[in-house]
Amino acid sequence: MFLPVVLCVCGLLMQGEAQDRAAMWRGNDRNGRCQYTFTVPSPAETTCPQNAGPEVEGLKARLSLLEVLVARLSGGEIKTPQVSQSRPQNDLQESLNRAVGERNLLQAEKERLERELEGLQRRLEEMRRETERLRNKPCPAQPPVVPPSPPLQDSTLRRPAGGFGPMSHLMTRPNTRGDISSLRDSAWQYGSPGFQELKAEVTEVPAPGGTEDGTGCGELVSVAEPVTHRKTDNIMGKYGVWMQDPEAVSPYGPNMVWRIDTVGSEIRQLFGYDDMDQLSKGFPSKVLLLPDPVEGTGATMYRGSLYYQRRRSRTLIRYDLSSESIAARRELSHAGFHGQFPYSWGGYTDIDLAVDEQGLWAIYSTTKAKGAIVIAQLDPNSLEVRKTWETNIRKNSVANAFIICGKLYTVASYTSPDTTVNYVYDTATSQGRALGVPFKNKYRYNSMIDYNPVQKKLFAWDNFHIVSYDLRLGRPQAK
Ligand code: CA
Repeated sequence: MFLPVVLCVCGLLMQGEAQDRAAMWRGNDRNGRCQYTFTVPSPAETTCPQNAGPEVEGLKARLSLLEVLVARLSGGEIKTPQVSQSRPQNDLQESLNRAVGERNLLQAEKERLERELEGLQRRLEEMRRETERLRNKPCPAQPPVVPPSPPLQDSTLRRPAGGFGPMSHLMTRPNTRGDISSLRDSAWQYGSPGFQELKAEVTEVPAPGGTEDGTGCGELVSVAEPVTHRKTDNIMGKYGVWMQDPEAVSPYGPNMVWRIDTVGSEIRQLFGYDDMDQLSKGFPSKVLLLPDPVEGTGATMYRGSLYYQRRRSRTLIRYDLSSESIAARRELSHAGFHGQFPYSWGGYTDIDLAVDEQGLWAIYSTTKAKGAIVIAQLDPNSLEVRKTWETNIRKNSVANAFIICGKLYTVASYTSPDTTVNYVYDTATSQGRALGVPFKNKYRYNSMIDYNPVQKKLFAWDNFHIVSYDLRLGRPQAK
């Protein structure tokens, strides 16, 4: 009994001695886990074969962790060949690096775009200045065929043409020329002084007294004050021609109104308006591009066709409105053109077409007639001349002419606000005589006067204004 007790006491004593010399360390290992280390002296060996004990390893691990923490807090890097960063830390760092890199790229891209924007703004400003400079620069003069004559009195004609106007989108055909920068009043581009702004000095030849034609058509007794339907809105409308077809053909009805602005050298646009109201408002429903350019203000409309003189020629053209193509083309024999025998205001009004109750007419002159007005009745289909009359009135001495019931009437002045219809020539009798029917050029630049046999009115184009005149027809006053 005593021996076991002694052994236990010895054991406890030895254990107590061992516990007195035992030690415990606690610290994180390389993987960050908590590691407990106990050391107890060896009862047999006095020294260990290794130099560093576990406590040193623990200290190293703790030191490494501290270094990592310090490095993180200071934002720097630490090179620990023995201790690597944990995976989440690496991922975080990589994400951070990627984000920083992307931010730098975006910053560079933003700076590049800002530089590009500055460049574009600079170019825009340069273009604006260039446009301004071109606007202020006078148009270069075109080489004239003959030395340029004094331009038309209205200084607005010197302004450059600005384009086809706001209705270009209504074109039914492409504009094959495209360039309209050279548009000019044909009168002052090629004209000579002899055809410009001539004063209307009537050189009429005395004629026998008037006679009635006996057809029911009256003779012109009076012309009312002009009614203004529309003021054109740009230089292209300084002068022109407007018309209604007295025998309209489908697809266009009798109310359709047609208009050609004739300022310029390449006149091809024919504007169509559903009625007078639309004309007054300036809303065309149709714009046709004519295959051949127009000359003068002598065009007319009849039985579904536009009749006009081709530019710089004596060629007459019948343009069919329904097929939008040329239906007939014929030269008007010996007719002067392009300033040879115009009306007094010039404008290459050498050949004036007219329609009345009896059909289609041409008013022109020839060398043989020495500038006197010649009247031709034309076949509306073929444009063949059926018959001609030679009057005794000099064409360039009158402002314009129109035909009512086979009788030619001339207007003395295109500028005088109070002028007269000063002559009548009756094709039925081949006789003419002087008249004195008052006529007003309200806007003082009347470039076109035509009779409409359905409306029984005169249509005219007076200095940007589309006007009409009511008429009174009746028995002529006895002379
Ligand atoms: Ca006329």
